[in-house]
Amino acid sequence: MASLQGIRSVEELELKDKAVFIRVDFNVPITDGCITDDKRIQAALPTIRYALDKGARILLASHLGRPKGKVNSQYSLEPVGQRLSELLNLDVVLLVDGPRSEAPKALLKAWKEGQILLLENLRFDPDEEENGRDLAMAIAGYADVYINDAFGVSHRAHTSIVALPGEMKEKGIGFLMKKEIQFLDKILYDHQSPFLTILGGAKVSDKMGVIENLIDKVDSFVVGGAMAYTFLAVQGYGIGNSLVEKGRFKFASELIERIKARGKKILLPVDHMIVSALDKVDEVKPTEGVNIPDGWMGVDIGAKTQALYRKEIRRAKTIFWNGPMGMFEKKPLFEGTFCVAQALADNQEAVTVVGGGDSAAAVKASGLTKKMSHISTGGGASLKYLEGNKLPGIEVLCK
Ligand code: AMP
Repeated sequence: MASLQGIRSVEELELKDKAVFIRVDFNVPITDGCITDDKRIQAALPTIRYALDKGARILLASHLGRPKGKVNSQYSLEPVGQRLSELLNLDVVLLVDGPRSEAPKALLKAWKEGQILLLENLRFDPDEEENGRDLAMAIAGYADVYINDAFGVSHRAHTSIVALPGEMKEKGIGFLMKKEIQFLDKILYDHQSPFLTILGGAKVSDKMGVIENLIDKVDSFVVGGAMAYTFLAVQGYGIGNSLVEKGRFKFASELIERIKARGKKILLPVDHMIVSALDKVDEVKPTEGVNIPDGWMGVDIGAKTQALYRKEIRRAKTIFWNGPMGMFEKKPLFEGTFCVAQALADNQEAVTVVGGGDSAAAVKASGLTKKMSHISTGGGASLKYLEGNKLPGIEVLCK
């Protein structure tokens, strides 16, 4: 695969008795000290287990939330360490003293078999988000091998993603990174037709780059969520009070023309679920057709649209999906997004890649996680990748 060329995978690195720094993405949701979804921890386990088996002295590091360069117990990785310890049935030692202190060095020296060291939240150090070299040099001073298994942050030029591997000779990627890149490369360079891209969510702006990069590759786009109203508005349909981006009208109308000129399709909603106000979601009702009456706003795709999208999904061989079809967080408005998740799950012939974030949450809530070929652990990173951007965290690992 193109993007993995020149990058070493964890299996190609010598790990025995080495101090192996593994950058993971343990940025998990925590409420009242409890982890509400541990999928990012689970996703990092194959690399951790492999390094353990190979006899590495493992030093894990992650960020959590946005503590803005200051120590803040609210963003401590302590609950993560506990969960990891339960999952691996091992002793996980959380290093509260910080990566620039003497503690990591001393503990790596006194390391006992079966032990895992976990640095405290990297973003407690002001250097981390600045891609600062001092922090990088400090860690490079005691780590022998660097492994990036944190796809979700690999689009960010932060110390643990860019400056640190820049200082290290022995470096590569973990199994999760490899899987993420392989699936996204399949979408970009090795997909089977019909190739369908489903986009939803709040804003056209966030998805413009992906649309541009995929326009010559896809056979059809399916659009839902608030995004769709900008495309409908420029075609003169009534959209009531639905969310639109007037600043993107030009892009939207030109895009429709460009897609048609290439003999490709863009499917837009033909009916909707609407509410008169956001605090009245329990009174949601369907529209007859594509127009939304004045005073109402579209909050999900309607039944006819669901059927249309389901049919398109059924015939596809490659599917990329990013963004919900409606305000799926509010219970009655989950239907359209759930329908798309179910249709993807039903098409077991296709390669189905879900681009993280809300779509991944919707798939999980639908209990369909195992039915997808791949669910990315990085919403932002996967979009950046599909926009055709080289992610700085991947670039730095090329030989
Ligand atoms: P994004 O981060 O761009 O994927 O957008 C996700 C957000 O879009 C979710 O919080 C949804 O509630 C929201 N969303 C989806 N459809 C609509 C809609 N029709 N009107 C307003 N917000 C929407």
